[in-house]
Amino acid sequence: MSRVEWQWRDSGSGPGHMQRVIVHEPLNAVQEAFRQWLTHAAGCRVCRVDEARCERGQRLQAAYREARRGSAPIS
Ligand SMILES: [Zn+2]
Repeated sequence: MSRVEWQWRDSGSGPGHMQRVIVHEPLNAVQEAFRQWLTHAAGCRVCRVDEARCERGQRLQAAYREARRGSAPIS
């Protein structure tokens, strides 16, 4: 995840200036769990083929669902 924001840059001499920078934010727990699951599934002969999941694939999928539940927006 990344976003663009303005940050103050002190040029050392003179007034300095504002500069647009890209801020890379760490993946949140849900995104990280999903990435791990996908990464595994892409390289796993069992998980890649069909709906079947190997033991590790099932664990990663469960972890993703758990993370998604845990990060449900609070209204
Ligand atoms: Zn697998």
